[in-house]
Amino acid sequence: MKSLSGLSLAEIEEITDALGATKFRARQVHNWIYLKSVKDIDEMTDLSLKFREELKKIAKVTNTKIKVKQVSSDGTIKYLLEFPDGECVETVLMRFDNRANLTACVSSQVGCAVNCSFCATGKRGFIRNLSYKEIIEQVLTIQRDTGLKVTNVVFMGQGEPLLNLDNVLKAMEIFNDNFQIGARRLTVSTSGIIPKIRELAELDMQSTLALSLHAPNHEIRRQLMQIENKYNMDELHKALKYYVEKTGRRITIEYLLIKDLNDTVECAKQLAAYLKDIKCNINLIPYNPTEKNDYKRPSNNSIMRFKSLMEHSGKKVTVRLERGADIDAACGQLRGKVN
Ligand code: SF4
Repeated sequence: MKSLSGLSLAEIEEITDALGATKFRARQVHNWIYLKSVKDIDEMTDLSLKFREELKKIAKVTNTKIKVKQVSSDGTIKYLLEFPDGECVETVLMRFDNRANLTACVSSQVGCAVNCSFCATGKRGFIRNLSYKEIIEQVLTIQRDTGLKVTNVVFMGQGEPLLNLDNVLKAMEIFNDNFQIGARRLTVSTSGIIPKIRELAELDMQSTLALSLHAPNHEIRRQLMQIENKYNMDELHKALKYYVEKTGRRITIEYLLIKDLNDTVECAKQLAAYLKDIKCNINLIPYNPTEKNDYKRPSNNSIMRFKSLMEHSGKKVTVRLERGADIDAACGQLRGKVN
């Protein structure tokens, strides 16, 4: 049975053509899927009953199942979604008080080959890429389940988006065209896949690039992220400069703050020196401890000291608000538990 979710207008037209209906019907179905987030073909009430019955014989709205759903007291919702082949990924909806923004954090792969030492997903290794349809299906599932409209998408869930770039780019195009989410509200995060950062620079898109740097020097980065052995910080620095020169856009630097590892005054000085000539904002993420490693969250004093040192270096710095602290909101935690 075909899933209507994820189909382009042209693909829906093929279905309506086959049923002998007009292109206008295809546009109606498209709107029900993308703008009205219906769960069932029967909810498409401006289509005739006869047409709906014909459509139901060959298609349904979605083949994706919500396997687990956790709702945090702060409004964050985490889903474990199951695709027809039985593979599961995590998707998170984050709401920030006082803001109308609803941000979906989507996965781009099942598992991940990058194997960062702090990440539950990396421990499972790479299983497969998600298709662009499976990426957009994550946002559609949130919209169908909550009845809300997602306004921002960040590729910060499971997987390394730049190792599945074709599908990620196609999904971004659809978020733009079908969901009417502006390119500036789309953020792609990478662990530092240098050739792909250069490729993105060439594309000169309006979306935001976020780099998970997490370390101020080679030694700490190697400890946290094996990718440093392949794409080291010196080469990464050149790629970041190239990206900024080519696009004129500011990069977001993600920096996981871990107690006594990368949160010292010396680390802040090294980080400031590394980023001195890179146009960027810095997002500090106090580590959210999981059961499987020894990393710890720094004290609030230590977080504020690090923030202030980075601000003195002339950068705009934010500390990421902790979302979903009472659920398994860190990447890979929920899937790990269910498995
Ligand atoms: S943090 Fe991201 S890049 Fe690193 S292993 Fe986890 S999913 Fe992969």
